[in-house]
Amino acid sequence: MNLGKHKGKLYVVSGPSGAGKGTICKELLKDSDLQLSISMTTRAPREGEVEGVHYYFVSHADFEEIVEKDGFLEHASIYENRYGTPKAPVMEKLEKGIDVILEIEMQGALQIKENYPDGVFIFILPPSMAELRKRLTGRGTETAEAIEMRLSSTLKELSYIEKYDYCVVNGELEEAVNRIKAILVAEHSKVTMTAKELIEKYSEEE
Ligand code: ADP
Ligand code: 5GP
Repeated sequence: MNLGKHKGKLYVVSGPSGAGKGTICKELLKDSDLQLSISMTTRAPREGEVEGVHYYFVSHADFEEIVEKDGFLEHASIYENRYGTPKAPVMEKLEKGIDVILEIEMQGALQIKENYPDGVFIFILPPSMAELRKRLTGRGTETAEAIEMRLSSTLKELSYIEKYDYCVVNGELEEAVNRIKAILVAEHSKVTMTAKELIEKYSEEE
């Protein structure tokens, strides 16, 4: 399945849990026309998480029904829960020329890459394993056991790096955000029109 060319750009942001993907995306969305795709998950909401803002929280049965109806652009199982990107809202936005950002892990990113090669794939890295541990612990959203599980997945996750177009180390937050903004600008400066189209456009203006 190739989902074809669209006017909007699809950015896929991945990286180890705790690297700062959520924090960076929040900053990026503050002063841009980008829209974040809201994923669906079977995991329970964390304190402060709002239905339809952070995720759509659904049962395993409802999730499976959407899988069967081919309603996800991608989906994956992570830490005993399921996560997926609802297809229709993303495709509608891309068709309207709106840029969309997905914050998803690597299994899902690879599915998108197969179906949507025009996507732009960005990998966020923590400055070190020690800093990653500190961030996961400091976030305080997982149990000690869950943190160890996430840390032990990290080295395996790094092996996906070669599938990505860009890599940004999230040391100082503002610098990482600025680097990603630079990527967005570069992507919008890519040559997309044919020579014939360009010459016609400039000839009309004469
Ligand atoms: P992810 O979405 O990749 O799992 P988060 O965005 O939740 O990661 O970040 C994990 C923790 O690290 C959060 O507590 C966040 O406030 C903190 N954090 C994110 N980026 C930075 C940074 N550049 N410097 C220091 N702490 C950060
Ligand atoms: P968390 O439970 O911490 O919110 O997310 C766990 C992991 O799931 C993170 O790496 C996050 O990027 C990823 N994730 C969130 N939504 C989706 C999704 O729709 N699809 C996939 N494949 N991964 C997702």
